[in-house]
Amino acid sequence: MSDRPLLNRRLAGMGTTIFAEMSALATATGSINLGQGFPDTDGPREIAEAAAHAVLTGKGNQYPPGPGIPELRGAVAEHQQRCYGLTYDPDGEVLVTAGATEAIAASLLALLEPGDEVIAFEPFYDSYAACIAMAGARRIPLTLRAPSFRPDLERLRSLITPQTRLLLLNSPHNPTGMVLTPDELHGIAALAVEHDLLVVTDEVYEHLVFGPAVHTPIASLPGMRERTVSISSSGKTFSFTGWKVGWVTGSRELVAAVRTAKQYLTYVSAGPFQYAVAEALRLPDSYFTDFRADLQRKRDLLDAGLRAAGFEVYEPQGTYFITTDITPLGEKDGLEFCRTLPERCGVVAIPNSVFYDDPEAGRSQVRFTFCKKDEVIEEAVRRLGSMGA
Ligand SMILES: *Cc1c(COP(=O)(O)O)cnc(C)c1O
Repeated sequence: MSDRPLLNRRLAGMGTTIFAEMSALATATGSINLGQGFPDTDGPREIAEAAAHAVLTGKGNQYPPGPGIPELRGAVAEHQQRCYGLTYDPDGEVLVTAGATEAIAASLLALLEPGDEVIAFEPFYDSYAACIAMAGARRIPLTLRAPSFRPDLERLRSLITPQTRLLLLNSPHNPTGMVLTPDELHGIAALAVEHDLLVVTDEVYEHLVFGPAVHTPIASLPGMRERTVSISSSGKTFSFTGWKVGWVTGSRELVAAVRTAKQYLTYVSAGPFQYAVAEALRLPDSYFTDFRADLQRKRDLLDAGLRAAGFEVYEPQGTYFITTDITPLGEKDGLEFCRTLPERCGVVAIPNSVFYDDPEAGRSQVRFTFCKKDEVIEEAVRRLGSMGA
């Protein structure tokens, strides 16, 4: 065999995700895993029953339609109307995907040419860098800095070049919990219009926003509908992260482009689950408000526990993650800290530095999730509190 590396140079250095390493560590040490963001309680029983019913009655057991089943496309369009007053035609302006992950991949593979520049918030959700690289494009980070993690829009303006094709947004933002304000969204939209940029916006945490913050889809701002691909997913909203049912909404032209890439990635997925998610999206408002109130309570529980254990805590406005700084504990390096934490006290967390191109920017930051049972959060903070002792 030649010396040529097997992994192509676009993906060189991407290795395995930090979640694989840390979740393996959690299993090996029997630790409480506050690393990877998946709930330890499944979503609504009636939605799980709808999925079982679909399987047993032969709905979706064979290849569903390429763009998604009409029931789900209709429910997504209704949800965008009900929550945000956004109108999308279920036939042509809604596309069902294998989770938000495939929606992100298909959008970037469809819309980018090699050499295009993509501006994205850093710290990045980990699939962004890989998908931008697979598309042969260049990622240009707009670094969000502690303590507020607000984006600097003057800096954003200065990063735009003639090669910039697309802004990749994520609000509510994982891992920092930052939620873009209407003013910030207007500022970003104005730049997109002025420079004729496309926007791909990852809104998987749209329903995990804690007052007074509110989620505003950038697609709802003037001039944005025709240039925005909006992405969301059922995983986070309905606590079924294993089902991998996501969707894209956008203009007919944008959705057609994304569909072209999507059909050669998975073609289709999750047939029976699509029926169940269509029902989930039509749950009454009380489902969404109760879910949010429950998570906000859990956020406050973990927030208080982390502060008591000596962490600097950056209170999130959305998502189910809290970013902390470990400097007050006399620690400097989050990666080192997370690698030894399971042995020291039986808790797993994620170092934010892996989400940065510039690891210095997030070196002392560590992320914990709070989408866990109260008793699990309580036990984790008890263990973290006894760490120094
Ligand atoms: C979890 C997550 C995703 C992936 O969503 P799936 O529907 O599970 O593919 C995408 N973006 C962000 C920011 C996430 O946190």
